Amino acid sequence: MAKGNINVSVENIFPLIKKFLYSDHEIFLRELISNATDATMKLKHLTNIGEAKVEYGNPQIEVKIDKEAKKLHIIDQGLGMTAEEVEKYINEVAFSGAEEFLDKYKDKVDDAGIIGHFGLGFYSAFMVANKVEIITKSYKDEPAAHWTCDGSPEFTLEPSDRTERGTEIILHIAEDEKEFLEESRIRELLTKYNKFMPIPIKFGTKEINDPDFTPKTTKDNPDASGGKETTEPHKQITVDNIINNPNPAWTKQPADLEENDYKDFYRELYPMQFEEPLFNIHLNVDYPFNLTGILYFPKMTNDLNIQKDKIQLYQNQVFVTDNVEGIVPEFLTMLRGVIDSPDIPLNVSRSYLQADGAVKKIASYITRKVADKLKSLFNNNREDFEAKWNDIKIVIEYGMLSEEKFFEKADAFALYPTVDGKYYTYDELYNKIKANQTDKDDKLVILYASDKDAQHSYIEAAKTKNYEVLLLDSPIVSHLIQKLETTKENISFARVDGDHIDNLIKKDDTTISKLDEDQKKTLDALLKEVISSEKFMVQLEAMDSNASPFIITQPEFMRRMKEMQQTGGGGMFGMGNMPEMYNLLVNTNSELVSDILNTKTRKKQERLINQSLDLARLSQGLLKGEELTNFIKRSYDMIK
Ligand code: ADP
Ligand code: MG
Repeated sequence: MAKGNINVSVENIFPLIKKFLYSDHEIFLRELISNATDATMKLKHLTNIGEAKVEYGNPQIEVKIDKEAKKLHIIDQGLGMTAEEVEKYINEVAFSGAEEFLDKYKDKVDDAGIIGHFGLGFYSAFMVANKVEIITKSYKDEPAAHWTCDGSPEFTLEPSDRTERGTEIILHIAEDEKEFLEESRIRELLTKYNKFMPIPIKFGTKEINDPDFTPKTTKDNPDASGGKETTEPHKQITVDNIINNPNPAWTKQPADLEENDYKDFYRELYPMQFEEPLFNIHLNVDYPFNLTGILYFPKMTNDLNIQKDKIQLYQNQVFVTDNVEGIVPEFLTMLRGVIDSPDIPLNVSRSYLQADGAVKKIASYITRKVADKLKSLFNNNREDFEAKWNDIKIVIEYGMLSEEKFFEKADAFALYPTVDGKYYTYDELYNKIKANQTDKDDKLVILYASDKDAQHSYIEAAKTKNYEVLLLDSPIVSHLIQKLETTKENISFARVDGDHIDNLIKKDDTTISKLDEDQKKTLDALLKEVISSEKFMVQLEAMDSNASPFIITQPEFMRRMKEMQQTGGGGMFGMGNMPEMYNLLVNTNSELVSDILNTKTRKKQERLINQSLDLARLSQGLLKGEELTNFIKRSYDMIK
């Protein structure tokens, strides 16, 4: 029996390993199963190229709990190790690997994120075990070896009588880690990390109906007519409980997959999601980096809150994390699905990741691919794309705001819906409204509403002029508008309730006022006495005599800045906290306004002004509470 010291230079590596990333102890299982998988894949390769003259067969990896003896076994049928290889790979390579890893990261365990996901390897077993055994038989014609280490730097290595090829790792689970002897806990870990690993993983057995068994149906009394039919009970058989799907959809070629395969895979990924995804994007690239995956667009609401089911990151089918921040462009983190890449450096910090050239390329590839897919969906089935627009617009609009490349590409498929349910691309809209909605300064004014019901009267006013009114109602739309105004030439957006329609799109023909300057002065003074200047800025306007006498508006600029501040960034400092301020446009050409001016008693004038103001507030949804009650009372009195 050989005895030795693994490495005397760091005698305290085991306590360090034990302490390492306390919350992440569970990763030991993923590390050991990854090693078992590697060993099996290597054997497959060696048999394929004729290097290993053994039968590859249908190898499995088995995870077994021995609760009584407090042991956890991980058994593979891979290429195994000779005693010499154990010395080399476990005592030297793996150990110095773990040592180097800990050395590098022991001070940085708080650097939240990917650190600690990979790198510790075999020695992570000591996070949960106070003794580890390896019993291994190489595919080469050499005796099996038995390695034991009890957590001190000493190990023993002796021959073993194991005859089957492969490796068995035995963990003697420490007292304070006994959760890892619970079947439910191990099952949870296997489902989390190993659900899509390429070699079948067996964990216990299960009972199923024998597929080769056809139950016989017989009459219980064949001689007498009308005997009762009885069916033999189904025969149950015991089979291996395989916990993983070794061939998940993303590892296949898009050409080999049908629409339903993608949907099935979505359900496999998110068993608790009952809603079907809207569409999927199959990622598949091998140059200049390796990346495969499937992204799904789920039905999205205007709720910007981060969703619970997220994109999962894998490395060669091993689950790494569902925190893809820094790898996937931020606007796409609202999607779901899988990304698998061996080229993403995982044992580095997030900030390093964001600066990494390869990772940047990956992010821009994903952005491009998503844009291309959206474009082809739009081109191939516009009707369907329009129908789904409401559910996906938030991602697209967010992408247009945050990624310049995406903004450029989105011109081809970003849609601008109207209040009448038509959908235009930007160019289509531009051509449609250019003639009618260009103002006297040659600026194209794009009208929009954010709420069809609340802004109904303003929308109607715009329609009488044959103007198109867009319906833009997502929470970040004010940012998008701002962006469009600065990128497209000579356009501006105006919400329909921002001003009287003739002021929103100013044409040359100005309406002549019926009132002379003196009358206007008197009217202005009267209104300012009656109406609180804290809430309303009174403005006299000569408008069409059929237009409403009093119109309440909120200036576009103020409103938009406030909105932008509420949804983060971009707004002017302090705007979000400003009190609501409205303009009150008084139409000097309206008959009622002339009446107000000409009414003899001051009391009656005040009544007319208040009543008109309340009507204007009512049409803006601004009349509430006591004021509304008073208004109703006053109205009844008037019609009595
Ligand atoms: P890594 O997997 O990154 O190489 P590990 O510390 O996990 O590092 O493993 C060290 C080495 O030990 C492996 O490279 C491999 O040569 C060997 N090894 C570990 N587990 C097995 C196994 N189940 N079968 C065969 N060899 C193994
Ligand atoms: Mg490993």
